[in-house]
Amino acid sequence: MTTPNVSFEVFPPRTVDAAFKLWDAAQALAPLSPRFFSVTYGAGGTTRDLTHDSAHVLRRTSGLPVAAHLTCVGASRAETLEVADSFAEVGVTDIVALRGDPEDAAAGFIPHKDGFNDSCELIEALADTGKFNIRVGAYPDPHPEASDQQANIEWLKRKFDAGADEALTQFFFEADTFLRFRDACVKAGIDKPITPGILPIVNWKSARKFADRCGAHIPDWVDQAFEAAVRDDRHDLLATAMCTELCSDLIDEGVENLHFYTLNRADLTRDVCRALGVTPQVTLSDVA
Ligand code: FAD
Repeated sequence: MTTPNVSFEVFPPRTVDAAFKLWDAAQALAPLSPRFFSVTYGAGGTTRDLTHDSAHVLRRTSGLPVAAHLTCVGASRAETLEVADSFAEVGVTDIVALRGDPEDAAAGFIPHKDGFNDSCELIEALADTGKFNIRVGAYPDPHPEASDQQANIEWLKRKFDAGADEALTQFFFEADTFLRFRDACVKAGIDKPITPGILPIVNWKSARKFADRCGAHIPDWVDQAFEAAVRDDRHDLLATAMCTELCSDLIDEGVENLHFYTLNRADLTRDVCRALGVTPQVTLSDVA
């Protein structure tokens, strides 16, 4: 099996305790030589400064590329582009450009009166600056707001046409979900890289809730397997085995890059990476 290239998503900490957790995770994962770390932007644009500061510190301490997420929520065009500039000023020139959701996701996205109306407008504006490598979100199980899979894929094509360089997908549970999506994207004329988003499941109850909210289809067998594993105190064993098998199936089908949703916990992601042959190359002190 070919060894994949990996990248890791983390979220910005809101407390000192959470900051220690993030730095512990970063220290454990940086030696795996990821393509990049990415740092999320809180729903409703709530972590603007924290995202900036976390991305900055992570880049300086790891020496690795860091991508900052940026959404269109709750800010004018000028303010959003100012945030992007502030990322560039500290050397963070990779951006994951998203429309985003409001803090109360049920309320639905309402553009700011002077803001970007959708992700394509943000991508175009970022691309026009010529400063950024732009990644975007993609949805192998169609996004809840897409009328059908065709519309979901056509919209992704528009995001690439607007200037995106790579797409990172929402998580999914079966390799076929991604492979079918990848084939349909190629058929629709998309020739840029689409990297599968992988969620090592740290807590089944929360993962289930999150999957429901973002439209990721949960196969019955997954639900049943976790129900039994939780009962028998084998949750992490199942999560690691299931995630490793999913990644191996993707690699067998030619997938070269994997993007892990770490939830700021290194253990499961590191165990899966080790099983895939991704092992430490250097220590953090070597690159800091
Ligand atoms: P888009 O892809 O622009 O839209 C989502 C879907 O809605 C599309 O598939 C399309 O079918 C439909 N749609 C939207 N606008 C139109 C239109 N004008 N015309 C036709 N169809 C349209 N959220 C955060 O708040 N912070 C984060 O840091 C964050 N990181 C993420 C990282 C990844 C890799 C992913 C996949 C998602 C992330 N999200 C994050 C969640 C994301 O903000 C939500 O899923 C949001 O609802 C959609 O944002 P988007 O840019 O992917 O939307």
